[in-house]
Amino acid sequence: MTGLDLSGRRALVTGGGSGIGAAVARRLGAAGAHVIVADVDGERAASVAGDCGGEPWQVDLSDTAALASAEIDVDILVNNAGIQHVARLEEFPPDRFAFMLRLMLEAPFLLIRAALPGMYARSWGRIVNVSSAHGLRASPFKSAYVAAKHGLEGLSKVTALEGAPHGVTSNCVNPGYVRTPLVEAQIADQAAVHGLPEERVVSEILLANEAIKRLVEPDEVAEAVAYLTGPAAQSITGTDLVIDGGWSAR
Ligand code: NAD
Repeated sequence: MTGLDLSGRRALVTGGGSGIGAAVARRLGAAGAHVIVADVDGERAASVAGDCGGEPWQVDLSDTAALASAEIDVDILVNNAGIQHVARLEEFPPDRFAFMLRLMLEAPFLLIRAALPGMYARSWGRIVNVSSAHGLRASPFKSAYVAAKHGLEGLSKVTALEGAPHGVTSNCVNPGYVRTPLVEAQIADQAAVHGLPEERVVSEILLANEAIKRLVEPDEVAEAVAYLTGPAAQSITGTDLVIDGGWSAR
């Protein structure tokens, strides 16, 4: 998409220090937005903020007690920070489940809650929640992830309904497997578990149900996020933009 002009807009991208978030921060920065790159890893946040002419915000988004009183004044909010944990339900550590729900569902709620008054005052706002193909469908052994992403879908839709009279849209993007450090770690783990070379883990496990037979690139997700912030998407709210190479078409 060429010609997107976000000059004068302030954007907050969570988990902006790596992977999809870093690509989104760079894309929005290239379109002229002032990007706040929020990440628990302050060095990575500073590096990406340097790339996109924005500012870093070192923050642990699982610390939801601190977030409840945060002041957030942005026009564009991208809730992206997330982690994965793979374990059978009966072995899933309860504290890990609670942690993931805090980071991936409660923190987006608190950031949306904090950002809406400023967006309403300016009658303009764009909220993009980085969900997942697993926000719409389940896979075994990913209970916290699937639950958090399904919850994020609901939160995004309620935000769309409440925000519409105030010029605020809220949507999810739903990537399939994207080439990021999060997925590279999963590939390495699965290679060890199955005793397979990493390229066979990719082709025979991750991409088994994908139509396009390649990992999605972070820039492709960033382009979808950018689209949802642009004028062509002003009537798009409360929905999902799926970027999964056909995984969910089966
Ligand atoms: P990544 O690991 O490359 O980046 C995640 C970033 O979030 C990191 O910079 C990390 O430091 C930050 N982060 C983690 N915990 C944090 C915390 N407590 N507070 C603040 N920041 C924190 O991961 P990614 O693959 O780019 O994933 C980004 C989002 O995209 C996640 O929500 C993930 O669920 C979603 N997603 C990824 C894929 C994929 O295949 N990579 C697919 C679908 C959805």
